[in-house]
Amino acid sequence: MIMFSSMKGRSVLVAGGSRGIGKGIAAAFAAEGAQVVITGRDRQAGESAASELAAAGGNACYIQADVAKPADCAQMVAATIERNGGLDVLCCNAGVFPSASLAEMTPGQLDEVLGINLKGTVFAVQAALDALSRSGRGRVVVTSSITGPVTGYAGWAHYGASKAGQLGFIRSAALELAPAGVTINAVMPGNIITEGLADLGEEYEQTMAASIPLKRLGSVADIASAVLFFASEQAGYITGQTLIIDGGQTIPESLEAMV
Ligand code: NAP
Repeated sequence: MIMFSSMKGRSVLVAGGSRGIGKGIAAAFAAEGAQVVITGRDRQAGESAASELAAAGGNACYIQADVAKPADCAQMVAATIERNGGLDVLCCNAGVFPSASLAEMTPGQLDEVLGINLKGTVFAVQAALDALSRSGRGRVVVTSSITGPVTGYAGWAHYGASKAGQLGFIRSAALELAPAGVTINAVMPGNIITEGLADLGEEYEQTMAASIPLKRLGSVADIASAVLFFASEQAGYITGQTLIIDGGQTIPESLEAMV
């Protein structure tokens, strides 16, 4: 029988942990006894998420930081070390997905999406290099997507490029992190129910669920479980890898392939 070792006392930083998937990841680590720091740009949302985690019995706090700014990344890592005495797990989850057709996409919109999703991932990992090396069991888990690396969606060409770029990044980063025993892997969520998705309405949710072999959208807990696995001691020999968590959405070749 495989027993997964405890997350108790591990220092975890979830960049983009104030809403949606990131908040779910933070909640899962907090429920396992980790010391969790969440970040995001909106202070009110971040503080209210941290209070929610604490009210549920978790050890959690919020630090305002924008991953698109290297100085903010350095500051969020420093604050985590000061609070928790080190850093063991970095979750690069911050992401934005504004829709724009290629015909209308401005250089500013392209810069914003690549700046947060792709460059923000690089800046966060760079800022955490030393602390993760000192951990002795350092882990990075990146939130990519099926959109870009596997599938496409009109209006999300810049987003897809940023999410595929994250996967290119982790493979080379894995080689640079390996000598210190630090691993870096990525989860690739399909359609996950978050506060934002709920705004699209029940009809969207039902139509989307019908196209998924497991006949439901994913939950933030579905993603958090995979992140916890990559962060575990037992996943210590896995690096530079990806895991699709999409209820089978990317498997069928056509609607006829769905039973
Ligand atoms: P969400 O609900 O909009 O949450 C995004 C989080 O990232 C928030 O905490 C947000 O806080 C933070 N964030 C955004 N820009 C940031 C920045 N510049 N610096 C720091 N934090 C920032 O989104 P979500 O749906 O949970 O998505 C989370 C991640 O999963 C993203 O990387 C997304 O690409 C990926 N993903 C989501 C789905 C899905 O179905 N939901 C599917 C595939 C992949 P602030 O706005 O306050 O900064």
